[in-house]
Amino acid sequence: MNERDSEQVAQMLIQRGHTITLQEHEADVVLLNTCSVRDLAEQKALGKMGMLRALSRDRPIVYGFLGCMAQSRGSTLLDEVAHLDLVVGTQKFHRVADYVEQALERKLAARFDDVRFSIVDVDEEEDSQGTIRDHVLSDRQVTAFVSIMQGCNMHCTFCIVPYTRGHERSRPLQEIVSEVNALVAKGVKEVTLLGQIVNLYGRHEFVSVDGKSPFVQLLAALQEVAGLERIRFTSPHPIGFRNDLIESFGRLPKLVEHIHLPLQSGSNRILKAMHRTYTAEKFVSLVDRIRSVSPNIAITTDIIVGYPGETDDDYARTRDLADKIGFDNAFIFKYSQRKDTPAAKMAQQLPDSVKEARNHDLLELINSWAKRRSEPYVGTEVEILCEGPSKTNSARLMGRTRGNKIVVFEGAPRHIGRLLKIRIDRSTGYTLYGEPVSQ
Ligand code: SAH
Repeated sequence: MNERDSEQVAQMLIQRGHTITLQEHEADVVLLNTCSVRDLAEQKALGKMGMLRALSRDRPIVYGFLGCMAQSRGSTLLDEVAHLDLVVGTQKFHRVADYVEQALERKLAARFDDVRFSIVDVDEEEDSQGTIRDHVLSDRQVTAFVSIMQGCNMHCTFCIVPYTRGHERSRPLQEIVSEVNALVAKGVKEVTLLGQIVNLYGRHEFVSVDGKSPFVQLLAALQEVAGLERIRFTSPHPIGFRNDLIESFGRLPKLVEHIHLPLQSGSNRILKAMHRTYTAEKFVSLVDRIRSVSPNIAITTDIIVGYPGETDDDYARTRDLADKIGFDNAFIFKYSQRKDTPAAKMAQQLPDSVKEARNHDLLELINSWAKRRSEPYVGTEVEILCEGPSKTNSARLMGRTRGNKIVVFEGAPRHIGRLLKIRIDRSTGYTLYGEPVSQ
């Protein structure tokens, strides 16, 4: 989501004649979009901004924090970071280009006078969900994120998102379909629909039709977009993952065989404390129902270890459940106390050593399942969408299967942007390696 929001800001700056540089020392404007989900993310952003201070010795530079940390800390960031000019929150990304220009102008006019001009805008804005809609597509880019809603009303006790991103607001279905059509016209073949609780898209704004939720209606509409090959979405909440959505996996061929379904904990006691409003048994039955419609579907998850009061027994239940389900992959998070959230004020905070030990133990299990879920592909042919050069070795190409497995292979430039068949000959657990099947 942050990547998507940053793209919107970049697009608006490019439209006004700015260009993107990959070289920090060339930048006249430095904007850091921030995440507040864990403290580590905030510390990284603050550290990075501190280091970038060194750029401004010989010319005026505009520095800004955008997004969640800007939203939650507001003008206090100006006290913490002396060279900071802009603090722009999550509902004001579309204003950033204006603010950058104002700040640049004033700075250039003042030259090296040590005058400070700061702009802080962390207000709410009605209909801001409709402002994340423009794209910067690179040459032969075939995948794109599409933001379909903003905010979250779920109020999980550990989570800062409802405070940083506000309440749920969804974009009209037709606007999203038009955006996807425009992307496809520019060569995009796969879209990932984004929302904090993406399956609950439109629940406040639109009605179910023939037992189909607004989200399922959107998926069905996107199925009809000619030239679009694949539809992904992230992240759904187990609550509201109903039969109409489950059945879509059997009914809509463009919907890929992958679901990222955050579990958070396998202990009913902890799930209740987290305000997740489902039980371990319900989660398992949801996974069973999904697998009965789509047997080889990849399921990935998010798990938090070390939530306040989590006992060895609670953790063992999480571990057992993860083992029972056999996730294709999981993001494991050590619980991090977040400002103003109910869990942060709970008495039984656990020491980092306990969180670390559980994180380490669970990671081993998750890694072993990732291996077990990847190995069956060795010796088979899979369809991938080739995205471009591999990040770890630019002489090779990479793509993803419908199940979101990364496949690395030696290919030719003509393969980029195409759906192709790859024969898999090796797996390292998370990455598959193979060769294009000649067609
Ligand atoms: N709305 C999204 C969550 C986005 S945050 C969703 O429900 O999927 C992504 C993940 O960060 C969450 O699923 C959770 O596992 C983790 N997370 C959120 N708050 C956290 C905290 N305070 N400490 C550790 N991990 C957290």
